[in-house]
Amino acid sequence: MDPTLLKHARDAIGFMPDDEGLALHDAGVAAAEIGPLLEVGTYCGKSAVYLGAAARAGNTVLFTVDHHRGSEENQAGWEWHDESLVDPRTGRMDTLPFFRRTIEDAGLEDVVIAVVGTSTTVARHLATPLGLLFIDGGHAFDVALADYEAWSPLLAMGGSLVFHDVFEDPSDGGQAPFEVWKRAVSDGYEPVSTTGSLRVLRKG
Ligand code: SAH
Ligand code: MG
Repeated sequence: MDPTLLKHARDAIGFMPDDEGLALHDAGVAAAEIGPLLEVGTYCGKSAVYLGAAARAGNTVLFTVDHHRGSEENQAGWEWHDESLVDPRTGRMDTLPFFRRTIEDAGLEDVVIAVVGTSTTVARHLATPLGLLFIDGGHAFDVALADYEAWSPLLAMGGSLVFHDVFEDPSDGGQAPFEVWKRAVSDGYEPVSTTGSLRVLRKG
């Protein structure tokens, strides 16, 4: 990965360990020749820098979808809450300005395209065949499953489906992404690689 972009990715606020980010980047580079990349769950743009670097290298773009109001687990009183991401005007989370800064600082405004809205609503109105689909939105089971069901039909044949936060052992983390990963395998997606909690599958 481009060393300047790698530094920006490492410095960005978010939930993506470096080895997993690099695996995500590599999956993005390989998928870019099939079609554009799409991420569900932008947050402050950390994973979008890893994928944006891949999009740039592969002459495509990254669409990154988020309502920017945080998942259940990001709200006040929950484990993954960051008080500095709350809009003082309303008391609601707003990660969009932080995402804007991340992408501006990284110089990726020409390849990383924010789509602000609820994931399943956006999916219903898009039809572009995707090279890579990265699912890292809400981690409640119904939300993660709805993202998989809404977006996976848009993935091109040969494209890569990537899940984050897949933990087989409940003591390592929530089980919803693992349950949805199992659903994808039973639907015929072929497991390609695992790096930490990041799993890549191919649509065959
Ligand atoms: N990929 C990011 C982390 C994403 S955190 C990184 O690596 O840093 C999960 C994000 O999903 C949150 O920003 C939250 O607002 C968003 N999200 C959760 N449910 C959503 C939904 N139904 N539609 C759109 N965005 C959603
Ligand atoms: Mg994640």
